[in-house]
Amino acid sequence: MSPSLIVHGGAWDIPDEAVAACQAGCRRALQAGWEILSAGGHALDAIEAAVMVLEDDPVFDSGYGSHLNLDGHVECDAIIMDAATLRAGSVAGLQRIKNPIRAARTVLEKCPHMMLIAEGAERFAKEHGVPLCDPAALISPAEKEAWLQCRQDSHAAEHHRGHEQGTVGAVALDENGRLFAATSTGGTCCKLPGRVGDSPLIGCGCYADSETGGVSSTGYGEAIMKVVMAKTAADFLRPSSSTPMRAAQAAVQLLANRTKASGGLILLDKKGNPGFAFNTPRMAYGFVNPDASFITAV
Ligand code: ASP
Repeated sequence: MSPSLIVHGGAWDIPDEAVAACQAGCRRALQAGWEILSAGGHALDAIEAAVMVLEDDPVFDSGYGSHLNLDGHVECDAIIMDAATLRAGSVAGLQRIKNPIRAARTVLEKCPHMMLIAEGAERFAKEHGVPLCDPAALISPAEKEAWLQCRQDSHAAEHHRGHEQGTVGAVALDENGRLFAATSTGGTCCKLPGRVGDSPLIGCGCYADSETGGVSSTGYGEAIMKVVMAKTAADFLRPSSSTPMRAAQAAVQLLANRTKASGGLILLDKKGNPGFAFNTPRMAYGFVNPDASFITAV
C-alpha cells in the first residue's frame, strides 16, 4: 500500500500576513510525518510527529501559542483515533503539557479509558513518560497581547491578527495499511474555563474507520458537535459513487445548512486518497502527492 499524509492548520479568516507562516508550518509538518512514512514507519509515529510540529508553531492554535481562556490560561484538547480498532485516545483541559498529542497517544495506547481530562489526564501522561511543563510556557507573547486587548476592550477577532481559530490536525496511512487521524487545539479565544469544543470528541473533531477513512475537523466547535462532522464526513465516503472531495464538501455543506456556522476538514479515504473542504475564507492545509511532492495551500 502507498503511504499517504494530509495535515491542516485550521480553517479561519487567515490574514494575508499570516499566509506564508501557515503554509510553511504545514510543509514542515508534512516533512516530519513523511520522513517516517516514506521509510516504512508506523502511521501513529508519523501523525504524532506531524502534529507536534504544528503544536510547536505559534502561528497555530494548539500547544505553544494556543488562544487563552477568559482567565488568561491555555487549556488544550487533543485526540488520536485508530481506524482499525475504532479506539481513540483523547485529552481535554490540559494546562501543563507542551505537546497535547503525546498525551492523547498515551491514552490511546496505555489507558483503559478513551478520554481523560484536566489534572487526571496530566497525571496519567506524566506517569507514562510525558513531561509536565510550567503553564506559562504555553503562552506566546502574541496571544498574551491579544488576551490583554480582549480584556480591556471586548473580545474581538481583530485582536488576534484577524483570526480566532487555527486548530491543527492530520490523517496518516502507512504502507501496512494502518490509518490514524488526529486533532489538537487550544480551543476558542476567551472561552470559559472548562469549555471543551469538538476537537477531542470522537466523531466531531476527529474520526477514523478502516471501512471508510480518517477525518480531522476545524471550525466553530459548538456547531461541529451538532452535526458530528468528522463521523458524518467519514460516512459520506461509503457510497461507491462518492469521492474524497465530494464527501468533504458534503459534510461542510451540512455544517453550513444546519448550523449556519463555518469550518473545514481534511480526510484520507481508506486507500489514502485526500479530500478537503472549508466554507471559511481560508484553510491552511497540505498533503503529499503520489509522486511524493508536497502540496501546501492557504
Ligand atoms: N474546533 C475548535 C474548537 O472549537 C477550534 C478550531 O477548529 O479552530 O475548539
